[in-house]
Amino acid sequence: MSSGTGPSSSATPSRKVRLATVWLAGCSGCHMSFLDLDEWLLELAELAEIVYSPVGSDVKTYPEGVDVCLVEGGVANADNLELLHQVRARTRVLISFGDCAITANIPGMRNMLHGADPVLRKAYLELADGSGQLPHAPGIVPELLERVLPVHELVPVELYLPGCPPSAARIRAALEPLLQGGWPELSGADLIRFG
Ligand code: SF4
Repeated sequence: MSSGTGPSSSATPSRKVRLATVWLAGCSGCHMSFLDLDEWLLELAELAEIVYSPVGSDVKTYPEGVDVCLVEGGVANADNLELLHQVRARTRVLISFGDCAITANIPGMRNMLHGADPVLRKAYLELADGSGQLPHAPGIVPELLERVLPVHELVPVELYLPGCPPSAARIRAALEPLLQGGWPELSGADLIRFG
């Protein structure tokens, strides 16, 4: 799934790689797998500065000049879409992180209902216990897109990291070369199998 040679992926040796992780429409399982890197996270901290992440940073705005970003999840709503475009504009190496990012996977199952309105009606009216009501709070509740889309259908992606979730070993195999100025060679079922 990886291209053989990516863009120059390293920061200059004199500074740490600026690493980000982003959570779009996913279950956060891919981020949990990132935390499963356990003690290697200490090595990662020597090589990289986490500049934006739901698990490693309290920064609210995606920063400029990010070297590498792991993007978990499909693109399901207007907020996901806006953040993804920011990520793309401000990131050198964008990694489609996990099966939901690569194929839409679980969140994409709602695409079988053919549109945002049927999904909302099913969830909030047909299956509601009481008198249901459709959510409508512009600026607070983001509008659903008509379909959940994989990341690469909206922006270019440098690297694909499949798995539901990708194992910690797989995440390390992708990140370690990038943080050391190289490019990962991902091949074989252990590293690129879906599911
Ligand atoms: S790929 Fe699997 S673990 Fe990752 S966000 Fe999707 S459902 Fe969760």
